[in-house]
Amino acid sequence: MKAMKLDHIGIAVKNIDEVADFYQNVMGINVTSTEVVEDQKVKVAFLPLGDTELELLESTHDDGPIAKYIAKKGEGVQHLAFKVENIDSAISYMMEKGYRMIDESPRYGAGGAKIAFMHPKGTNGVLVELCERKDI
Ligand code: ZN
Repeated sequence: MKAMKLDHIGIAVKNIDEVADFYQNVMGINVTSTEVVEDQKVKVAFLPLGDTELELLESTHDDGPIAKYIAKKGEGVQHLAFKVENIDSAISYMMEKGYRMIDESPRYGAGGAKIAFMHPKGTNGVLVELCERKDI
């Protein structure tokens, strides 16, 4: 397997509008769209930057994974997503190598991507997302 690029960096925030102000008005990185992913109880704002993008993640429910993450660790970088050619073979490859997958089969994430998270205990504390998406 070969990761093709850093697809995006997921950042857990309490309030997208407040945080987007910094990125847009101070850093000059525009929010191009937002999307609610009901399945994950999260609202996502997309901020493309060069060949990658930032994703601001705001929980839509108190018991969502991002709300729990912020309660435990505070706001900040939550995961790194690596683009792969084929998500199914990437998952099989990781499991063959003995890595623990949070998602043993792919699910749909923001932007229609097929995604699967790896367990951070196996990746030195980094929550790694494998992500397959068609180029726009
Ligand atoms: Zn992500």
